Amino acid sequence: MFDLYPQIKRKKTREIRVGKVGIGGENPVRVQSMTNTDTRDVKSTLDQIFRLKEAGCEIVRVAIPDERAVLALRDIVRESPLPIIADLHFDTSLGEKAIKAGVSGIRINPGTFKNKKRLDSLIKACKEEGVCIRVGINAGSLEADLLKKYGHPTPDAMVESAERWLDYIVSKHDYYNLKVSLKSSNWWQTVRAYEIFSEKSDFPLHIGVTEAGGLIPGTVKNTMAVSYLLLKGIGDTVRISLTADPVEEVYVAYEILRNLGLRSLYPDIIACPTCGRCEIDLMKLYEEVSSYARKLKANLKLAVMGCVVNGPGEAREADIGIAGGKGVGIIFREGRIIKKVKEEELLQAFFEEIEKFIKEHPERLNL
Ligand code: SF4
Repeated sequence: MFDLYPQIKRKKTREIRVGKVGIGGENPVRVQSMTNTDTRDVKSTLDQIFRLKEAGCEIVRVAIPDERAVLALRDIVRESPLPIIADLHFDTSLGEKAIKAGVSGIRINPGTFKNKKRLDSLIKACKEEGVCIRVGINAGSLEADLLKKYGHPTPDAMVESAERWLDYIVSKHDYYNLKVSLKSSNWWQTVRAYEIFSEKSDFPLHIGVTEAGGLIPGTVKNTMAVSYLLLKGIGDTVRISLTADPVEEVYVAYEILRNLGLRSLYPDIIACPTCGRCEIDLMKLYEEVSSYARKLKANLKLAVMGCVVNGPGEAREADIGIAGGKGVGIIFREGRIIKKVKEEELLQAFFEEIEKFIKEHPERLNL
């Protein structure tokens, strides 16, 4: 029998914790995202965090640009259903305040911190509270001496920066609740940096392409890099950066993980591209089935097909599907037609059949 998914042997990394969420070790690849609301606006930020949680996000990062943002953090942390990571640049004192506000992690970009004494104090505070640190290397903000040495922000330069800071935190502070990212907006540069680094270190890796662009280009770049790395067993947590609603980042991450056979949260939807035989509004139908499926959270294969003639045959491997016709639609299960209904009743009948199927196969639910 042909394997439908690649056999992936994940590289063993040490286990760390962001609040209650374990990363690395035997944990599944974790999905995370970042809010794009104004952190000072507690309500909007929390609303977005709840939407992210509903979509399957497991860890969320929020930007801490100033004192007012750090003040709002206390309420956000208290109400958030997800562990919060504070994202810091330039000002380490905000990090210490964020730790007091109860965050589970901080992300630092060492290239943007000039004052080592202040950084020491921040690392000390993290150690005291068990707060996870992500050493987030970014090709766009490497230290000047490394740029001079390598000429450009090459993967080797990024790796040297990461090693330098990890070594500093580990040897000077004896602290290990750490993860690392080595990001660039170029997917191949990103991949090479992670590959080189993973040969040298067993700290968990947060993977993804930074500043990847909007939904289509950002998804493509991230899928190239994240899939390549995960296929090689590299990567412990994923963030798909998109210039889009952050909830989309979570959907894309799970779509990648499912296609690699690593994690499945939502039903897989097989849908035909439509052609001249299609006599229903299949795009609309697909959107409705897709938003239903994202709420369902089950291991199912659904099919949305444009015509009765070829639909069920083309989607034979689907558990349950619908196919449109002229004013009517059919519902099929495992390739066999089980019901014919009026077009206006098609969706409702389809959802009822899915619920029936789930009742017969409760093991398919991802609770
Ligand atoms: S299922 Fe029917 S409408 Fe869809 S592509 Fe195939 S033949 Fe065309």
